[in-house]
Amino acid sequence: MIVKEFAKKNPESLIGKAYRAAKEAHAGQKRKSSEPYFNHSIAAAQAIAEWNLDEQSIAAALLHDVIEDTSYSLEKIKEKFGEEVSFLVDGVTKIGKIKYRGIEAKAENLRKMILALSQDIRVILIKLADRLHNMRTLRALPPQKQKRIALETLEIYSPLAYRLGMQHLAGDLEDLAFPYIYPREYKWLIKTVKEKYDEREKYLKSAEPILRSELEKNEVSVIKTDYRAKRYYSLYKKLLRYDMDVEKIHDLVALRVIVPDISDCYAALGVVHKLWPPLPGRFKDYIALPKPNGYRSLHTTVFCIDGKITEIQIKTQEMHDEAENGIAAHWAYEEKKGHSDYLARKSITAGTKELAWVQQLRNWQREFSDPDEFMKSLKIDFFQDRIFAITPQGSVIDLPVGSTPVDFAYQIHSEIGDSASGAKVNGKIAPLDYQLKSGDVVEILTQKNKKPSGSWLKSVKTGSAKNRIKSAMRRGIKTIIGEKYSKTELRVICDDRIGLLKDIMSIISRSHINMNGVQTGRSGRFVTIKIGCEIIDKTKIEKLILKLKRAVKEIKEISYSLK
Ligand code: MN
Repeated sequence: MIVKEFAKKNPESLIGKAYRAAKEAHAGQKRKSSEPYFNHSIAAAQAIAEWNLDEQSIAAALLHDVIEDTSYSLEKIKEKFGEEVSFLVDGVTKIGKIKYRGIEAKAENLRKMILALSQDIRVILIKLADRLHNMRTLRALPPQKQKRIALETLEIYSPLAYRLGMQHLAGDLEDLAFPYIYPREYKWLIKTVKEKYDEREKYLKSAEPILRSELEKNEVSVIKTDYRAKRYYSLYKKLLRYDMDVEKIHDLVALRVIVPDISDCYAALGVVHKLWPPLPGRFKDYIALPKPNGYRSLHTTVFCIDGKITEIQIKTQEMHDEAENGIAAHWAYEEKKGHSDYLARKSITAGTKELAWVQQLRNWQREFSDPDEFMKSLKIDFFQDRIFAITPQGSVIDLPVGSTPVDFAYQIHSEIGDSASGAKVNGKIAPLDYQLKSGDVVEILTQKNKKPSGSWLKSVKTGSAKNRIKSAMRRGIKTIIGEKYSKTELRVICDDRIGLLKDIMSIISRSHINMNGVQTGRSGRFVTIKIGCEIIDKTKIEKLILKLKRAVKEIKEISYSLK
């Protein structure tokens, strides 16, 4: 369905009315790219229509920016378009206010907060449609803004799309953000792999007919075969783990075989392995054991013609559609059972009880949800027992409902908890037993040599705060975390230059951290440096990593492990 055409042909439908109202509200407004603002609203709504969402969602997508950018009010939306559309627009407006500015360790909490605040998957999907168009038109914005939005897309929105199983969208968002975040690496990658992609595809084209005729001989039916080229950003991330050596990436281009049903998948696999010997340990059965986001397929790596190492993926058409479109594919399959007419179609909140992806989403958050309980609709209710409070620096802290500033303090760091003397919530002094709400900005006031108070035990909710208060009281000393670890190993991958190691080491020693051992290795133009450090506190390690990344621009990637 083309939203614009549909709206014009059906002016009295919900979509038709929303179209007119949004067009009028944005009249005269321009995007930074100098096109009419309303084009953005249409683009977002068009994506929503392509993902097969209901008419309420399409109307809400058309109206998604009117609250923030025009004089149109939420009350008016409710009055003209009903409770549901106004709920969706309100949700999108609320999420729009959350900004991510690159505190890596807390990106996951921010993703959870967005899910919790949206309350309904459709709100996130409208936000994703909005973000997709913003990324496609990012060129028009000033560089500073480009970077912030691209980073937020990479760290927050693309992972959310991926978790919803929308692999295609997640890949689009990543590849749109990539050149803004890592311009030099992007150029290097394009230059390095362009030829390799073509070379691999040509090679696979010679292997494909051999496989086809072998499948035919063995009476395995095939719907189609094609080639899957690895997306740029996903390749870049993989290269970081493989010494930046493209030769080590076997799935740069994979041969994909689509068959009618699951038994054909395994039959085809047998034929492949009889034809070309598999590389030991590389076969993955994502049909029996799907990935956490629901991805299903058989992957195998074989010594193909001329002994070239090649990845082959085998799946059904349905698995393929699901992998590309996730949640949207489920609606498409639901739709085949009827309701293809938008005017007659009911809200998708009804009758979509046992969608696999809802189950997958719940698995993802299993630590927060009761496994016996069944999710009945698209409502995101698995966060009803969690709240998300924010530090003055913008990190999101995830806590159980009823948590106090003391829980918050211990969540940041045990020493901050131990020495907490008071708290400010949203800029105002609050008691230490105050019950925090989602979105509260919390600042902890500390005093040197202060000890935890036993009375805190009555109000704290987290087990970790309770344990630390008790043990600090028992011993009369500050608690120590991670006693069993003696040191941390930092692993740094970077571009080489003279004096690089010295710079890295001086930053570490200036942070008053003892080092005990350095190892370097080289592969191509990249070096890997391993440094043993005497820090065991995760917050400190993460701070150090941020500091290093900011100060040494050659650094591509840092990871750490406790020894
Ligand atoms: Mn927008």
